[in-house]
Amino acid sequence: MTDCIFCKIVSGDIPGDIVYQDEDVLAFRDLNPQAPTHILIIPKKHISTINDIQPEDAELIGKMYLAASQIAKQEGIAEPGYRAVMNCNREAGQTVFHIHLHLLGGRPMSWPPG
Ligand code: 5GP
Ligand code: ZN
Repeated sequence: MTDCIFCKIVSGDIPGDIVYQDEDVLAFRDLNPQAPTHILIIPKKHISTINDIQPEDAELIGKMYLAASQIAKQEGIAEPGYRAVMNCNREAGQTVFHIHLHLLGGRPMSWPPG
């Protein structure tokens, strides 16, 4: 997708503070962090929303969570705890339409979310 900001980070057209990548997944620090650790984990393949995930993407989505777990250890938040969350569409506050797992940690989190 040529007009997708996260596809441009995948291609290197826009810089990203990359903390992890493999063949299928890329992770970089959020531009506007909401916690001491705030990392976005994305598939390199463009998928707009959770609603667009197909059965053949199941392994890819699993790899995003495996990356989250590995990055959480790297960042020192695995043991104290963290939140891994994806927003879907307007009411959840999705603003970038290339799915991304928010990995948030380094402070206590409240529940329910706002
Ligand atoms: P959403 O609201 O869609 O769940 O989350 C989008 C996230 O992407 C926001 O937390 C926002 O700060 C982040 N973001 C938007 N544009 C950029 C960018 O160009 N670079 C980085 N690193 N993060 C971005
Ligand atoms: Zn994209």
